[in-house]
Amino acid sequence: MRIMWKQFIYYVAIIVIAIPMFMLIATIGIRQHYVRTIETSLRHQAELTEGVFQELIARNASEEVDSLAKELGTRIGTRITVIKTDGVVIGDSEANPKDMENHAHRPEIAQALKGNVGTSLRYSRTINQDMLYVAIPVMENKKIIGVIRTSLSLSMINKLISSINRKVIWAGVGIFILALIIAFISSRVFARPIDDMVNVSRQIASGNFSARLSTRTKNELGELSNSLNLMAQKLEKLFEETSREKEEIKGVLSAMVEGVFVLDSEGRIIMANESFKRICNLSKVIGKHYWEVLRSTDLKRFVDEVMISGKSRTIEIKIPSIGGENVYVGTATPIGKRRETVVVLHDITEIKGLEKIKADFVASVSHELKTPLTTIKGFVETLEDEAVGKEEAHHFLGIIKKHTNRLINLVSDLLLLSRLEDKKQRLEIEDVDLRRLISDILAILRDKIDKKKLKLECLIPDNLPMIKGDSFLLEQLFVNVIDNAINYTKEGKIKLKVMPLNKKIKIEISDTGVGIPAEHLPRIFERFYRVDKTRSRELGGTGLGLSIVKHIVLTHNGKIDVKSKVGKGTTFTIILPA
Ligand code: ADP
Repeated sequence: MRIMWKQFIYYVAIIVIAIPMFMLIATIGIRQHYVRTIETSLRHQAELTEGVFQELIARNASEEVDSLAKELGTRIGTRITVIKTDGVVIGDSEANPKDMENHAHRPEIAQALKGNVGTSLRYSRTINQDMLYVAIPVMENKKIIGVIRTSLSLSMINKLISSINRKVIWAGVGIFILALIIAFISSRVFARPIDDMVNVSRQIASGNFSARLSTRTKNELGELSNSLNLMAQKLEKLFEETSREKEEIKGVLSAMVEGVFVLDSEGRIIMANESFKRICNLSKVIGKHYWEVLRSTDLKRFVDEVMISGKSRTIEIKIPSIGGENVYVGTATPIGKRRETVVVLHDITEIKGLEKIKADFVASVSHELKTPLTTIKGFVETLEDEAVGKEEAHHFLGIIKKHTNRLINLVSDLLLLSRLEDKKQRLEIEDVDLRRLISDILAILRDKIDKKKLKLECLIPDNLPMIKGDSFLLEQLFVNVIDNAINYTKEGKIKLKVMPLNKKIKIEISDTGVGIPAEHLPRIFERFYRVDKTRSRELGGTGLGLSIVKHIVLTHNGKIDVKSKVGKGTTFTIILPA
């Protein structure tokens, strides 16, 4: 029910109860007042006549009493009755005393006989009317000798009261109507601001944040209106900000070259940018499952993994396209509590193509250079034999030979790197006996170790399990690391420790050489990165060794780590799966 009618009903209930109650109390009060006034006047009249009747009663002149009562009663319009102490009526202004019964037990008389002023309001059977009686004792020498009773019919009062009642009822009806009108108006006045508030809050709820309330009223409702307006104002600002931010994000997303899409917890697309639609070659993708619009097993596996683990990941993904296959760097990140996932696809097909061209070029150049270099080396060696005794020629040929060797090393390192980077090139996996492989390498390098007067400590357990790997590549790996250890150590020892480590094999190669300064450590596995270029060159290094080592370790799903202290030595730790 509307608040106004509710309020109005309360008012009406109060009016309906209050007005009749007021009328009842008023009429009762008026009647009581009249009765009391008449009572007083009757007493006064009785007291006035007391003196006249006293002497007659004392003389026992009954007839005179009666005629005096009749005369006085007619004059003052009041019934007067005179009674003796035994209750016998000896005079009455309106009846014959002889016909009247003994009055000793009438309540007012009984009281007067006790010396008090007696009053009584009752129905008189003698004259068949409601009567008000007042009786006073008549005294002589402090002794009660009789009673004078004055009485008046209440019919007059009743008439008066009913005329007053009529007026009161009319006034009541008037007040009732007036009160109803006032109640109606006040309910409306009270309910209007509330109605306005309801309207305005409905408008705000339906999105019209510019709706405002009038704030003219200065009471609590006015304060409430103010607060509501303030709230609407804040909401409007917040909404504007949110929509602006949304627009900005939309702008940024559509300007992005990367394909971006957001998935709900069931893998349905809830947002996607233009680039993503271009990748899918579809204009409508919202609401569809991502695997419906992009059929790529790589992507499905990747997104599923991120959704289950709840952890962000980045991988390279191949997605079929019209011209063949595109390569993307995909990043999937779970967001918010609703288990949504945002996926970004960055197209690297072109970069991959360029990388391939570059790698192919390096491989071709190296391959092309290999034959002429070997030929040059062969002829230099021939010429060296010829130049025996010719100091200068021998010296120059030595330099040519040294540089040719460097070039040959470089070319073969580059070829090996190209092979490792070529994903199509498969590893030739076989069971490799590490113990054997290392001792073969050490046999080749023994001369070099002895020449530098270095000690060699080799700790390999007899029961070392075989490992699965490409023996040629593993040989390259250990040759490079051990050769470096020899090259960069002037004195001391080289230690090789191989140990099985639950289904893995840990190999530690440590030396007591120059060491690598900490700031270089993170970069030594990069191509052509050398700590001391001149020294490396002198030693015939190419700067590719450790980069090859790292590649080989990774292609065998292993790990490599290096620890070093300048002047103290270096330790390479390699872990390979058994
Ligand atoms: P290089 O052919 O120059 O040896 P690598 O890739 O094999 O190239 O090594 C990179 C650089 O790392 C080297 O130039 C050298 O400065 C440093 N390095 C490698 N192994 C050691 C080692 N055992 N002790 C000190 N420095 C080393």
